[in-house]
Amino acid sequence: MVFRTSSFKKAVKLNKDKCIQCGLCSKLCPVGNIVMREYPAFLNKCEVCVRCVSYCPKGALYRRHQSEHVYRGVDAKELLD
Ligand code: SF4
Ligand code: SF4
Repeated sequence: MVFRTSSFKKAVKLNKDKCIQCGLCSKLCPVGNIVMREYPAFLNKCEVCVRCVSYCPKGALYRRHQSEHVYRGVDAKELLD
């Protein structure tokens, strides 16, 4: 059973001032939660894996009460293959 709360819906935030609209976060999200419009837009199926936060090249994505360190176990291109 999957529990969703409103905090999951807004688990990841975007700083538009930093975003370069590259679309990488949308390509890397494992559950298709990010769609590219003018800027990334978040749907309602985030699993809070934090991949988008970790791999954004500009640090434009963040969690509201972020305490975890950015972690990149592999290169982004390996996740895209
Ligand atoms: S990866 Fe970062 S810079 Fe690229 S579109 Fe997503 S939020 Fe913007
Ligand atoms: S935290 Fe994970 S599931 Fe949620 S939007 Fe980012 S990449 Fe997708």
